[in-house]
Amino acid sequence: MATSEAAIDELIDDLVATVSPTGTDPEKFLGEQFDRGLAWVHFPVGLGGLGGSPTDQLYAMRRLSALGAPTAAGRNVIGYGMVAPTIVAHGTEEQKHRFLRPLFTGEEIWCQLFSEPGAGSDVATLSMRADRDGDEWVLSGQKVWTTLAHEAAYGLIIARSNPEVVKHKGITAFLVDMHAPGVDVRPLYQATGEAEFNECFFSEVRVPDAMRIGGVGEGWHVSITTLMNERVSIGGTVPPRGSGLIGEAVKIWHRRWAGRTDAHAMAVRSELLQAWVRNEAGRLTNWRAMDLRKAGTPGPEGSVAKLAFAEENQRTSELCVDLLGAEGMLYGSRYPQLRPTESAMSGGDMRKAFIRMRANSIEGGTSEVMRNIIGERVLGLPGEPRNDKDVPWKDVPRS
Ligand SMILES: Cc1cc2nc3c(=O)[nH]c(=O)nc-3n(C[C@H](O)[C@H](O)[C@H](O)COP(=O)(O)OP(=O)(O)OC[C@H]3O[C@@H](n4cnc5c(N)ncnc54)[C@H](O)[C@@H]3O)c2cc1C
Repeated sequence: MATSEAAIDELIDDLVATVSPTGTDPEKFLGEQFDRGLAWVHFPVGLGGLGGSPTDQLYAMRRLSALGAPTAAGRNVIGYGMVAPTIVAHGTEEQKHRFLRPLFTGEEIWCQLFSEPGAGSDVATLSMRADRDGDEWVLSGQKVWTTLAHEAAYGLIIARSNPEVVKHKGITAFLVDMHAPGVDVRPLYQATGEAEFNECFFSEVRVPDAMRIGGVGEGWHVSITTLMNERVSIGGTVPPRGSGLIGEAVKIWHRRWAGRTDAHAMAVRSELLQAWVRNEAGRLTNWRAMDLRKAGTPGPEGSVAKLAFAEENQRTSELCVDLLGAEGMLYGSRYPQLRPTESAMSGGDMRKAFIRMRANSIEGGTSEVMRNIIGERVLGLPGEPRNDKDVPWKDVPRS
């Protein structure tokens, strides 16, 4: 169901008349925003939404951004883009009402604990154990590359509850308290010098059954919702025209190259124009995909967007560094730092962005895996050989 722009306008007018978008504590503002259904307009009424479409959501976000309102996504990136839609799709009523509001306001930061040292692209091979003990589950094992685990109050985790069945069938998903006894979070430093992510050790961590999300053995189904939303969250956004990395490239060109008419400068200008066209085509393609997806979990088009985003971000950040000339080689890393400082995407240091964007073709599924998904699910090409398809997980050879 589409919500009219007039109805959204009315709610936004009421919101900003009650709490100033620029002069209010962000948590308070976002709480009021959630209560009016303007958190995720495409979510159901009562859960921060109005039962609208993703396009309605884009409209509301654009208007709020123009008013200088704080953004929930920036404060709680994993929670906002991936965990929240998973809770809406698979959570109990109690879980939805308990977790969505503080997630949106940023009072409770979330992380996503899927990858393990032996399970990344093929995450369904994961080894973390979930053993039932009465009304509780006991989690033991290791997760890795867990973005924001060091700040998270809660995590969405998948673990093996039944090793006797094929890999996809024996997984169960949980919402886990990241401060529970037995959880140990250790930072991992990236090439930028910052530690956005961590390795997380779980030693007999007790989780109440009420924190299970989805049925026992249905964790794979739950994680698909998260992964589909992750791809759209990373690659499927529709930023304002000329913003982000391409906007930075244009700024650098104006600063360093505008006014020059020599052959080198003309060639650089032509490269910049080509990058502009590619970025704009990607932005408009995402807009069209969003318009077609009226609601619900995104489909394989998210993999197309994610692949294109990763490749283009790397190319455009490389162009920015080229445009900077010798200045582009001077990256003053303040190694080591435990937190991402400013956004590497816009308004930040393009030398840092160039280094950070190398991860775009790994995080949220690698570009090779995206190509496999596009080949199989979009183009209908024959699938990869899978020799563990009908084998119980415990019998699959592992290193
Ligand atoms: C910045 C960043 C943040 C991250 N945040 C999180 C997070 O918050 N939570 C989380 O759970 N994970 C997170 N990850 C982990 C990420 O999802 C994995 O790194 C990714 O899925 C790849 O897994 P892997 O690193 O184990 O590589 P592997 O799966 O071991 O892959 C190694 C190489 O083999 C290739 N490959 C593997 N399988 C195939 C195949 N079938 N066909 C062709 N090529 C293949 C891959 O493309 C890659 O080049 C993050 C990663 C990064 C870089």
